[in-house]
Amino acid sequence: MDLYSLTLHEAKEMLERGDITAVQLTQSVLARMDAVEGVVKAYITRNDEGALTAAKQADDLRRAGKAGILCGLPISLKDVLCTADMKTTCGSKMLENFQPPYDATVVEKLKNKGAVITGKVTMDEFAMGSSNETCAFNVPTNPWNSKYVAGGSSGGSAASVAAGECLASLGSDTGGSIRQPASFCGTVGIKPTYGRVSRYGLVAYASSLDQVGPLTKDVTDCALMLEAIAGFDSHDSTSLKQKVPTYSESLIDGLQGIRIGIPKEYFGLGIRDDVNKVVMDSLDKLKDAGAELVEISLPHTDYSLAAYYLIAMAEASSNLARFDGVRYGFRAEDCDSLDKLYSKSRSLGFGQEVKKRILLGTYALSSGYYDAYYKKASQVRSLVRNDFNEAFAKCDLICSAVSPVPAFEFGDMSKDPLAIYLSDILTIPANLTGMPSISVPGGLSTDGLPVGIQLQAPHLKEDLLFKAGWNLEKRVEMVGNFPKPEAQ
Ligand code: GLN
Repeated sequence: MDLYSLTLHEAKEMLERGDITAVQLTQSVLARMDAVEGVVKAYITRNDEGALTAAKQADDLRRAGKAGILCGLPISLKDVLCTADMKTTCGSKMLENFQPPYDATVVEKLKNKGAVITGKVTMDEFAMGSSNETCAFNVPTNPWNSKYVAGGSSGGSAASVAAGECLASLGSDTGGSIRQPASFCGTVGIKPTYGRVSRYGLVAYASSLDQVGPLTKDVTDCALMLEAIAGFDSHDSTSLKQKVPTYSESLIDGLQGIRIGIPKEYFGLGIRDDVNKVVMDSLDKLKDAGAELVEISLPHTDYSLAAYYLIAMAEASSNLARFDGVRYGFRAEDCDSLDKLYSKSRSLGFGQEVKKRILLGTYALSSGYYDAYYKKASQVRSLVRNDFNEAFAKCDLICSAVSPVPAFEFGDMSKDPLAIYLSDILTIPANLTGMPSISVPGGLSTDGLPVGIQLQAPHLKEDLLFKAGWNLEKRVEMVGNFPKPEAQ
């Protein structure tokens, strides 16, 4: 049996029964990386030695009766999360050799619960992108078909999970970066409620939108991972002082009494026919499970994308000001003045997409333009929030596609920056409103690629997302049939 193909909960049970050891499980995952990394290219930094040491420790702890809930389970991390024992590049030349002095809170939590960290996986540069193609290093391929992108910005997380190069991964989501790659690679991914998970040690992109969350092989694993990383952290002033529920308790059959909203505005958004078909089939499945379907309206949908890109770029321009060639990161040589050092380090250290966003964001925040752009975008954000609050008076969950299109071929969308921005239309509202949102595989496109279904819920209702997602998953045949990248 190939241990790398197990889900977290299957592996956990086998470890608990003593059928396998954490060392065997980790060795299987490392051998899998050797076999498929040449095609998948998900990792920026592998942690083979560290992972084996952690696995031995996990086995010792289990023998001593001190196993945490993730004891011995191999998990990868998006390279945007600080790790004290591995560099954190953010997919950028700017941080190519950056070694953080501490672990992000979520990393510390995983380690304290016994997880085995397999390494740091690739991403779009500073999490800006939707295909992982803006990364300064390796761009992952989609494990279902290597001609296609894995999605982004957490492309390495989704590819590593789908290819069996870890059992689960942590990503980050500012405008869809967990859900869209999860959808493209046939995995599950959740963007938790804003404040549900600590961001201490997450390199900031747009602070009013960023959240950390898991990408996993199924909904049960996703619930387990969120339970492990959620909760208040005094190091993050935006984290919520709310009890973390036992999410696995919400995985029960039947959706009686649950109203699922279908936004009428979401059907004219250039959604491909085969994607639409998977959404319709999934709605039928949710109905079979007992849910009631209701039509709702989100009238400000058309304005939300522009507001998102303004806010994200403005906040990014401010957050990325710290990379100046002086304190840490890339430093240009032969500069005879401080100004030159700043400008040359930033010109050479950042890639095209990041520079474009810093310039646009700085412009939007500059004096005289602030009211016309950032303030206006914030007002639109309030309107979008109101839309959702009103919709949630009529329904308990909102269902749609995650992305208007399935995974696209390399270079296809990157030639047209506007097209790639527009494809975020369905995921960005959850970041603008702070509400939780999950992506669950719904079926396959006409070209045989996964299509993810998005479910959104009011603040802190992750349990409902897991419940509905689990009920959908049980009725979808493709789930669990992960591809074979080694055969490509
Ligand atoms: N594609 C979006 C962007 O480029 C979302 C990225 C993200 O969620 N980190 O901004």
